[in-house]
Amino acid sequence: MFNTSVIELNRTALRNNVEFIRNYLREGCRFSSVIKGNAYGHGIPVYVPLAEECGVEHFSVFSAGEAWQAQKVAKKGHSFMIMGATDRQEMEWAVQQRIDFFVSDPGALQDAIESAGRVGKKARIHLELETGMNRTGFEPRELRKSIPLIKKASHQLTLAGICTHFAGAESIANYHRIQNQKKAFRRMVRLMAREGLESENYHTACSAAALRYPETQMDMVRIGILQYGFFPTREILIDYMVKKKTNENPVHRILTWKSRVMGVKRISKGSFVGYGTSFLATNDMMVAAIPVGYAQGFSRSMSNRGHVLIRGERAAVVGMVNMNMMLVDVTHIGGTEKGDEVILIGRQGEREITVASFGEISEQVNYELLTRLPECIPRIVTD
Ligand SMILES: *Cc1c(COP(=O)(O)O)cnc(C)c1O
Repeated sequence: MFNTSVIELNRTALRNNVEFIRNYLREGCRFSSVIKGNAYGHGIPVYVPLAEECGVEHFSVFSAGEAWQAQKVAKKGHSFMIMGATDRQEMEWAVQQRIDFFVSDPGALQDAIESAGRVGKKARIHLELETGMNRTGFEPRELRKSIPLIKKASHQLTLAGICTHFAGAESIANYHRIQNQKKAFRRMVRLMAREGLESENYHTACSAAALRYPETQMDMVRIGILQYGFFPTREILIDYMVKKKTNENPVHRILTWKSRVMGVKRISKGSFVGYGTSFLATNDMMVAAIPVGYAQGFSRSMSNRGHVLIRGERAAVVGMVNMNMMLVDVTHIGGTEKGDEVILIGRQGEREITVASFGEISEQVNYELLTRLPECIPRIVTD
């Protein structure tokens, strides 16, 4: 092994999560697996084939670069959709490859038409509508102006989707804002329909919206975090449990992050441990060195606060997390030795380090913590 830690992806957990999502969706609604941010840190090259094994056929990415990376490892005939920015060159590539992409403003619409012309194939576009997030998408005024152009370009464009994104469906505090977005979306869709512009797909829902507002599922959902085994927020999980009268979280974490003990050392009472003076041994103790640090995605804010699992016990981080190493207290874990398995995220025996607990200490949401797991850590599949 040429790496100091490894990320395992559990096939059984993913199969369970995909099945849960499938069953939750309304009849005929398609599941697009969102794999931006290196598949939320799970690693596109390993995650995509694994998801395909579990029956996933449609993937959403942010950039053309991610689409390229995913397409290289995916089965022929599976579909990709780019949700972020694409420049002209990337659009031409997407048109050539029959990859769908979002068109979010009149400039991009013009580029899409021209790219299609140059390539000699139709561009499969998803028109993104601005409904209240105030980030990207056609304003009603821009849409009205663009309709004649879209109609005229029917030989260059396939209107593969009409879509929007909700501004915070994971929190009940945003309820009214979401309702207003739903209304704005319907208004704009009606406006287009009156002009004879209809689409193969209407899609608006991310994980939170699909769960809490099932009416937003429409023809397709863009599900990210849920497939990886996390509810977007605790609020959405509780809402789900109350509605379904269950105490069980229906999805399971598929990722485990592990390393090995690099060495163990005896420290005498009164010594400082690691860089500087942030940790003073107030008793004789045993510390283990773990070859993982902030360069590997183990946040420096876990210094003197985080935990890992060794021999089924919790071991506290002592001193500062270094670039490539950290020290943990193993005084109470008799027999700890070089080569012992170390769990950074995941389960060992009776105990578990959850992504949520890790995130709370380092003040990162699940999304951030996961996507920060470096690409260079090997991902392997387990059963
Ligand atoms: C990231 C993203 C999603 C998926 O969000 P989750 O909360 O992870 O399900 C859906 N749609 C768009 C436009 C996104 O950027």
